[in-house]
Amino acid sequence: MPTGGRSGKAGGAAKAAADKTTDQAATVTTRPERRVVDRPPPDPDYPRYRVEPGSRLRLADVDPDEAEHYRRKKDVADPLKRQRERIADLQARLYAEHRRSLLIVLQAMDTGGKDGTIKGVFQGVNPQGCRVASFKAPSQEELDHDFLWRYHEQAPAKGMIQIFNRSHYEDVLVVRVKQLVPEAVWRPRYQVINQFEQALTLAGTTVLKFLLHISKDEQKRRLESRLADPEKRWKFQLGDLKERALWDDYRRAFEDAVSECTTPHAPWYVIPADKKWYRNLVVARTIADTLAAMDPRYPPAEPGLGKVVVPD
Ligand code: AMP
Ligand code: MG
Repeated sequence: MPTGGRSGKAGGAAKAAADKTTDQAATVTTRPERRVVDRPPPDPDYPRYRVEPGSRLRLADVDPDEAEHYRRKKDVADPLKRQRERIADLQARLYAEHRRSLLIVLQAMDTGGKDGTIKGVFQGVNPQGCRVASFKAPSQEELDHDFLWRYHEQAPAKGMIQIFNRSHYEDVLVVRVKQLVPEAVWRPRYQVINQFEQALTLAGTTVLKFLLHISKDEQKRRLESRLADPEKRWKFQLGDLKERALWDDYRRAFEDAVSECTTPHAPWYVIPADKKWYRNLVVARTIADTLAAMDPRYPPAEPGLGKVVVPD
């Protein structure tokens, strides 16, 4: 692992480090993927899945089955491979640069494809620079702290890509739908979340949030296939049917969370996810474009290395 470098030094070095942090804040991009010049330009404009700050998300307006002109999985094999290669290359630079980081938040209804997205998009990316944190129902110790405690601890270190499989958004989703706390407790959390994400951004972390959007029919098919396939049955829990009965409540909670928390510094993307292969393509492309806009660079080599001869 690259080491922290400046952390052990005092005085001037600390000030230099603080200045560096301010520099980073100044370079945070607000519409990162739109700054990427791609030839030919992306067609169609992938950021159309982005929910613009200040707008109100209506999930009924987003077709979960959309796939542009692609018809089948085979059609996206090459474009997906290209996006994975871009991610792998940019990740290597981000890691070597060791100044900034990327946080990817994945949220979805049950069976929405969070695990499949991680598997499908991050193939070929160096595991050393990537981490996944999966959040389940909180432990007693976690409940004894403020709700962000367990998430903040897992925020990415410099150079890293961190994936949140479920996230701090559960505290305004399942917690709201299942009435685990009163509204007076969960409602102020939107603002707290926005401030938390802004604090991460100011410290050099780019925050990307994906809602994998499936239809109720597609969830039925996926639950049925979990029941039918002995190798998938372990994933099925009777509780999933109780959650499914709350479909409309979850939808409302998702619409509110996304609308309240899509910000210039941490936008939400609502991804059509009935077709797994199309979902993977769009997520991979958005991640690659965002990393490209961050433009991570390999650090300069020590001066004079050109003349170095490695002894026998
Ligand atoms: P799974 O993703 O199928 O492994 O399930 C994880 C479970 O943890 C889901 O039922 C979530 O609703 C639940 N969960 C995750 N985060 C929270 C939270 N903050 N509060 C309550 N339940 C949660
Ligand atoms: Mg589950």
